[in-house]
Amino acid sequence: AAEEGFDLEDVEGAIDEAGHGPLPVLAVVGRPNVGKSTLVNRIIGRREAVVEDKPGVTRDRVTYEAEWAGRRFKVVDTGGWEQDVLGIDASVAAQAEYAIEAADAVVFVVDAKVGATDTDEAVVRLLRKAGKPVVLCANKVDGPSGEADAAYLWSLGLGEPHPVSALHGRGTGDMLDAVLQALPEAPEQRFGTAVGGPRRIALIGRPNVGKSSLLNKVANEERVVVNELAGTTRDPVDELIELGGVTWKFVDTAGIRKRVHLQQGADYYASLRTAAAVEKAEVAVILIDASESISVQDQRIVTMAVEAGRAIVIAYNKWDTLDEERRYYLEREIETEFGQVAWAPRVNVSARTGRHMEKLVPAIETALAGWETRVPTGRLNAFLGELVSAHPHPIRGGKQPRILFGTQAGTKPPRFVLFASGFIEAGYRRFVERRLREEFGFEGTPIHISVRVRE
Ligand code: GDP
Ligand code: GDP
Repeated sequence: AAEEGFDLEDVEGAIDEAGHGPLPVLAVVGRPNVGKSTLVNRIIGRREAVVEDKPGVTRDRVTYEAEWAGRRFKVVDTGGWEQDVLGIDASVAAQAEYAIEAADAVVFVVDAKVGATDTDEAVVRLLRKAGKPVVLCANKVDGPSGEADAAYLWSLGLGEPHPVSALHGRGTGDMLDAVLQALPEAPEQRFGTAVGGPRRIALIGRPNVGKSSLLNKVANEERVVVNELAGTTRDPVDELIELGGVTWKFVDTAGIRKRVHLQQGADYYASLRTAAAVEKAEVAVILIDASESISVQDQRIVTMAVEAGRAIVIAYNKWDTLDEERRYYLEREIETEFGQVAWAPRVNVSARTGRHMEKLVPAIETALAGWETRVPTGRLNAFLGELVSAHPHPIRGGKQPRILFGTQAGTKPPRFVLFASGFIEAGYRRFVERRLREEFGFEGTPIHISVRVRE
């Protein structure tokens, strides 16, 4: 590598950075108006956003990537949500429950100027039950005079309250240091090393596509395994189901079976639940209602799973209702709307009739295999060498940027680092990705490619 102009340290650093496995997840919870969204913006280092959202406007983006002191993690924001018909306690609880479920650690935000309310106490009980590490954020401590307010929050029994001003940034560094202490390096409980544990499937899709019907179909027809499998902790929201001779864990099925009917914020809950399920899963089975046009909401769900880096299978449901004309248009829609996931295995199913249920498992296995594929460095560089000489990067400003060498830094999903002599254009990157897929498969998985340019 040295003769190519990169020193070993750069190369190792780039590989480390690109090769990170699944990131640990931090949830930020608390009552409305305590400053959750302001804090999330501060943590992710962005001013854009969330706080300016008008009440009632649905936000579908609930997870963000963040970095502090060289460590990366995900943040689940529960701020964009409105008090609804359930009443404040129940809705704060429901929202916090979803978020805590998906998290490795929790920042519980309390308005120090207001002090602990009954609703705050209710959330504390939830946090105790969940048993996840908690960092208590005493927010709106804008100056030294507010520190006393923060101290009152010791009464919550969650340990030291961290006085913070999310608005001005005061104290957030110390709080984030505490967060890093609380967060596991890797999300152990979801990606643990338990050998032979069941693979985790998130069955996702917009309301009414048939998730609950599909789950019932597979759970009823196949033997439902009692949750006593060795090495698996019993989780009431997950369900172990045997399919094709293999036991799978369908995560977060409580949200599928027991539909919470909410008038306000229902879409928001749905996307929070989807995000939580995707975080916990290895593979996402995305259900689409084939009898209707592919919608923006379908695309958002696909994007969420791709961005989370999960293996992906797309199942077109309600196939029993399709006539020839609809089938024709569906194929056109798939081409135009789902071009970005053309690599995902596809099955055309009917939860009603049971059509092609047996194809689900092979598709899931294919996607997981692609997700775990590792290309040896030698093979990768032989391939890159041929590619670069057969199809060189276009000349720019009299220079020809060249990919010098590359390595696969990680799997689940596959991550590559390419080292180059100059800026590699987006079009060429896409070309390299296309050729990588042709050569090595990667069916059913997103792949990440980062490019390091020699300075
Ligand atoms: P959320 O509903 O919990 O997400 O709360 P927001 O982040 O939307 O904040 C609610 C209000 O509190 C907004 O007007 C914020 O500007 C304000 N706020 C948030 N953090 C602070 C803070 O640290 N100090 C002060 N004084 N106001 C804050
Ligand atoms: P969910 O909201 O995604 O869980 O969707 P449900 O499972 O509740 O299904 C929504 C509606 O679609 C129900 O009326 C189901 O009976 C119907 N449905 C689900 N799967 C199929 C299918 O394969 N064919 C037909 N014709 N209807 C279906």
